[in-house]
Amino acid sequence: MAQVYTEEKVMTTTSSCESCGMPIESGRYCGYCTDENGALQSFEDRFARMAAWQARRDPAASKQDIERQVLDYMATMPAWRDHPRVQAH
Ligand SMILES: [Zn+2]
Repeated sequence: MAQVYTEEKVMTTTSSCESCGMPIESGRYCGYCTDENGALQSFEDRFARMAAWQARRDPAASKQDIERQVLDYMATMPAWRDHPRVQAH
């Protein structure tokens, strides 16, 4: 019974992207985090995009601050928390 319930829940609720946390309707990753084939983009690509996004939100922060904030965030994401760059941080 527990297994059936879990499967139903996955199919009927929205989930969040395992790479950036954005709400998505299905799958594991949002359209921003995947390439044209639906595969997760590389760490370098996502890190650069998230850093650029964070820099726009917080223009006064230094590059080091931005990178630390992005790594902190990525450490909470299932897609990245085991990545060597995130772990090293
Ligand atoms: Zn995403």
